[in-house]
Amino acid sequence: MGTVSAMTGRAKLMWDEQVTQYDFGPGHPMDPVRLTLTRSLVRAFGLDGALPVVAAPAAGESTLALVHRPEYVAAVKQASAEPRAADVAFGIGTVDNPAFAGMHEVASLIAGQSVGAAEAVWGGEVAHAVNFAGGLHHAMPSAAAGFCVYNDAALAVARLLELGAERVAYVDVDVHHGDGVQEVFWNDSRVLTISVHEHPSTLFPQTGWPEETGGPQAEGGAVNVALPAGTGDAGWLRAFDAVVPELLAAFRPQVLVSQHGADTHFEDPLAHLAVSLDAQRLVAEACHALAHEHAQGRWVALGGGGYAVTDVVPRIWTHLVAIAAGVPIPPRTPVPEDWRHEVYAKTRATAPLRMTDGREPGFSGFDDAGYDPASRLDQAILATRRAVFPAHGLLP
Ligand SMILES: [Zn+2]
Repeated sequence: MGTVSAMTGRAKLMWDEQVTQYDFGPGHPMDPVRLTLTRSLVRAFGLDGALPVVAAPAAGESTLALVHRPEYVAAVKQASAEPRAADVAFGIGTVDNPAFAGMHEVASLIAGQSVGAAEAVWGGEVAHAVNFAGGLHHAMPSAAAGFCVYNDAALAVARLLELGAERVAYVDVDVHHGDGVQEVFWNDSRVLTISVHEHPSTLFPQTGWPEETGGPQAEGGAVNVALPAGTGDAGWLRAFDAVVPELLAAFRPQVLVSQHGADTHFEDPLAHLAVSLDAQRLVAEACHALAHEHAQGRWVALGGGGYAVTDVVPRIWTHLVAIAAGVPIPPRTPVPEDWRHEVYAKTRATAPLRMTDGREPGFSGFDDAGYDPASRLDQAILATRRAVFPAHGLLP
């Protein structure tokens, strides 16, 4: 991964307690307790003393309009005021995205945290900013999708462009394809979107094929790594390492926006990869290092999916905050006892004992070791490299 230098602790965490009102109701996988428990685990590790925790205002109409159509925002507002009147033509009022009172306000608030993170990083107030309540990457310009109402990730990127950024890299390691962000910047050569996800033949949203490479004005600007179901730590890290660092080196982003969906984990109930906390933590560290190597340290880190709400989500996003703050938590650190009690009190689930899963994965160079033509994983990696590397002047 290269030498990491000049790591800085200049970071902030975006948080407003009201983001926990993003709640599709009982039985929905996107249980807001995942955010509550992450916030309290961050506090339990004393990270509030390592970086400021601040709330940005909700994204306003003109900001939402950077990504979303006015008629869609109007439909969200209507559903927010009167949930039973939700219009499924806009993806609201469906099984995945039920309407709820206050939906517009809380989705705008989450978007505002990501936009605020982008502004703070671009303006030089901090090097890194984290919004683990964000990363709602499936929302489309005119539709809610996949539990996502407003696409805070795309809005953060769009705000960076509005502020004058000329090259923004978006790296999405959620188990699902980052389809909404790809769609918004499909034909915009200022934005490189890279999504590493489970293969579309086995998972929502059924897009993210390697052949999706961007529009005519942005050939190679969309990058998709479609991993076979069952891929574990070694394969997931190998794929990340074989695609992301070289593309970032070639693209030379001014800022890195990364989406850290936790649903690649082997315990996640909605998908079929088999990644551990240890590997997820390594990728969070890698994104941090890559921001320093290729984007002058400018890093906006977002959450995303993740439905193992007590076992996985709080731990990986606490690692993410700690890494951004410059005080990474060593892998096998015990989980604070008070937090384990809180988990039991809130969910009746038994919390994990340590901050990772006790695995010892590592990056192994793709080029150094050569590739195995019989491996479905290496076939997937090569499909991606062949599809986009030449457009960036790189050898596949
Ligand atoms: Zn996901």
